[in-house]
Amino acid sequence: MNKIIIHGGFFSESDQSKEVKIAKQNSLKETAKLAFDYLENHTALETVSYAVSLLENDELYNAGTGSQIQSDGVIRMSASLMDGDSQKFSGVINIENIKNPIFVAQNLMSVEDRVLGGVGAKKYATESGFKDYSTETPQRRKEYLSKVESLRKGTVGCVALDQNGKLAAATSTGGKGFEIPGRISDSATVAGNFANEFCAVSCTGVGEDIVSNATATKIVTRVSDGFKIEEAFRKTFTELAKIDGFAGAIAIDSKGNIFHQDSFPTMVFASFDGENFEVFD
Ligand code: ASP
Repeated sequence: MNKIIIHGGFFSESDQSKEVKIAKQNSLKETAKLAFDYLENHTALETVSYAVSLLENDELYNAGTGSQIQSDGVIRMSASLMDGDSQKFSGVINIENIKNPIFVAQNLMSVEDRVLGGVGAKKYATESGFKDYSTETPQRRKEYLSKVESLRKGTVGCVALDQNGKLAAATSTGGKGFEIPGRISDSATVAGNFANEFCAVSCTGVGEDIVSNATATKIVTRVSDGFKIEEAFRKTFTELAKIDGFAGAIAIDSKGNIFHQDSFPTMVFASFDGENFEVFD
């Protein structure tokens, strides 16, 4: 029962054109299809890394190439991976100059120290054979120089269910832009990316809100405790609203139900189950 859902963060009508919206719809649809094809011969865990790497390579999104720039002019990226089957979580926090942070997280899955940050993460990546790569684009430098607050633009994530009934989630981000160096994103925490045998979730939005609400963890725990996936989302997003939180999340449960919700209806996402596509409008 192969299932895929991906997200590309939030689309902001105010500062992006119609062309960008169409480009995101097309790219998400294409990536969902590529990921679904990949899932035919790979595990959910391998597939979520693959799908997120495709989105990291796409300049449209705030992850990998096209990541936002922090207040000191430097790009620091975070990515994580969670295997629902083994319930192992791996990730990198604030890594610099790596093309695909999600692949470093994937590498760490088999290492004892599975979450690395900053210089240590970069050193580990270099020693593991990852080449130096600048993920800066002219567009992001322009935004940085004109101090365009570009919150809510494009963190990426993927959740997959494979034919053996295994779930996995992956999330990758360039952060919220203009942050204080050292700020920790939710994307490489269990609040932003979490999975077990019952459910897998990837989030986007304001990292501080996602962490305060323990969003991904709560949804997964509620489904594990018997909530229907839509009920688990409803309760978790009601709690998010109480703290005036801004977030969106995508999920799949072990029965193959795909679900998404956002606190503000502009999360960009696409899902594919082999027959039907659902793409954000
Ligand atoms: N969640 C990311 C962060 O706060 C940003 C985003 O999803 O747009 O780092």
